[in-house]
Amino acid sequence: MFETLTKAPGDKILALMGEYAADPRPTKIDLGVGVYKDEAGVTPIMSAVKKAEQRILAQGKTKTYLGIAGNKGFGAAVLDLVLGDTLDRSRVRIAQAPGGTGSLWVLMQLVNRARPGATIWVSDPTWPNHNPIAENSGLVVKTYPYFDAETRGVRFEEMLATLDGLGKDDVVLLHGCCHNPTGANLTNAQWDQVAASLAKTGALPFIDLAYLGFGDGLAADAYGTLKVVSAVPEALIAFSGSKNFGLYRERIGAAILIARDAAQADITQSQLLNIIRGSYSQPPDHGAEIIRTILEDAELRSEWEAELDLMRNRMIRLREKLSTAIRTKSNAADFDFIAAHRGMFSLLGLENAVVEHLKAANGIYMIGDSRINVAGIPEDRVDDLAEAMLAAIK
Ligand code: PMP
Repeated sequence: MFETLTKAPGDKILALMGEYAADPRPTKIDLGVGVYKDEAGVTPIMSAVKKAEQRILAQGKTKTYLGIAGNKGFGAAVLDLVLGDTLDRSRVRIAQAPGGTGSLWVLMQLVNRARPGATIWVSDPTWPNHNPIAENSGLVVKTYPYFDAETRGVRFEEMLATLDGLGKDDVVLLHGCCHNPTGANLTNAQWDQVAASLAKTGALPFIDLAYLGFGDGLAADAYGTLKVVSAVPEALIAFSGSKNFGLYRERIGAAILIARDAAQADITQSQLLNIIRGSYSQPPDHGAEIIRTILEDAELRSEWEAELDLMRNRMIRLREKLSTAIRTKSNAADFDFIAAHRGMFSLLGLENAVVEHLKAANGIYMIGDSRINVAGIPEDRVDDLAEAMLAAIK
């Protein structure tokens, strides 16, 4: 049977990681892979997570099934974290899912049950995994204008014009904060306009919230999500705990749905649970129980928030250092956008040949589209990086 298959394309980021690992140069710099790294280049386990795990190990009593919707305490804590008291909870349902990716998957399946073959509009560009998840769910993917290659900001007027032309059968995928891959984000005033547009057209907002707390802080990063969900009758949110809790390999996320009213929420949730039951049946507990333990305990929660603040501030500091170094060395403000971007990434807008040159000549690894992970910048090598970038674009 398998002879019918041809080789599927490999993952570009994983291939780049392999190349980096095989590079013998001690001065090499990895700006590729999308995980947070500390000053030692390590993706650490947060200390609040370690403490929660110790409690779970000491106090756990059973490993029986969790139930299709997952860990209930986790669900309630995530709704408090993401939505606060913004919405009447009788319209809101949540199901734990394996990572932000698993959440996107089950919610896209849900959209396809409601409107088979519906069009989902994604930003140009977007996280490359959005397309296959949507297409494998039966949806049609189209793009709305987003990144401005000149300013490295958002082409907001064009984005809004596209959104204004959509209708109630359309779905709009929005990055709640910390846009991946560009690092360019909407201002609060622009979020207000997006929310008003969605309220007017009736298009369904679908918010990918994979970096809450990585931009300007937990509250600031939730602005767009809260503005949008307050303005519309129905919305979807795919939450990830991979980055902000550093739980990447635990595969922890949540699918949140907001319906018109409680009765519609019950029906919609029954379909979501039916999708989960018919795929992986039930989610695993460990990551969910860690997050529940942290968010329900005042001490662990403040420890986690402090660690998250440190991570975020480190990324902002690296952004400022790199853009300042480039400005000082070149006497031009061409890379000031790095300091204005937020989240883990910036799309530098370099030609692929420049990206390849930086890799070959300097051992500086970034994704082929010139996305860098700012957390990968070694703080003591900022000058080297700035010089190499300026030499490469000459
Ligand atoms: N959405 C975006 C925009 C992402 O960047 C990521 C992680 N790279 C995810 C969703 C999914 O994250 P995970 O499945 O690891 O939680």
